[in-house]
Amino acid sequence: MKRVCVYLGSNPGTDPAYAQAADALARELAQRSIGLVYGGSDVGLMGRLANACLDAGGEVIGVIPELLVEKEVAHTGLTAMHVVASMHERKQKMADLSDGFIALPGGLGTLEEFFEVLTWNQLGYHAKPCGLLDVKGYYACLADHMDRMVHEGFLVQEHRGMVLTGSDPADLLDRFETYAPPQVDKWIKRKKGL
Ligand code: AMP
Repeated sequence: MKRVCVYLGSNPGTDPAYAQAADALARELAQRSIGLVYGGSDVGLMGRLANACLDAGGEVIGVIPELLVEKEVAHTGLTAMHVVASMHERKQKMADLSDGFIALPGGLGTLEEFFEVLTWNQLGYHAKPCGLLDVKGYYACLADHMDRMVHEGFLVQEHRGMVLTGSDPADLLDRFETYAPPQVDKWIKRKKGL
């Protein structure tokens, strides 16, 4: 894996444990010479992760839409920065540059971006590993909800299994290296009109 895309909060969260988790992931990426691709902001957990990667000697590539350069305080010290025209272009570029995707704790933007790459995976647009780096059980309810999707017949178990989840960055990245994408159809019953 050359580069991993990380989605995470543009806010710092209320607990210092979130920033510590960003630092730990940054160290692990740098140690493995895996570059970071992220949203290009210098604020919140996003800025923390980028700065920790740079401090550890890692490569950091930002992708930010023009409209957010000021609002999200674009980072000025990255290895490379792509300023793009739209949110859609941002997400496509981040996905193209990366060999895997991780979500650290974050808000709506974090979830939107992570679930988009998951759904692309489910439809076969790519076969790259996707994982939740959980901190303090932040994603426990989300994991429960995905189990419910399976139970209620809206998600196949194999696609549920695509969401690699753990609290240790080294373990998560090890699992990325050996990830095998599921070979199943998304549709449980494909029948016209139910
Ligand atoms: P949040 O988790 O809400 O703090 O947002 C984290 C990052 O996701 C920020 O850089 C937001 O600009 C970005 N974001 C929010 N919504 C979207 C979207 N629809 N497409 C792409 N990026 C988004």
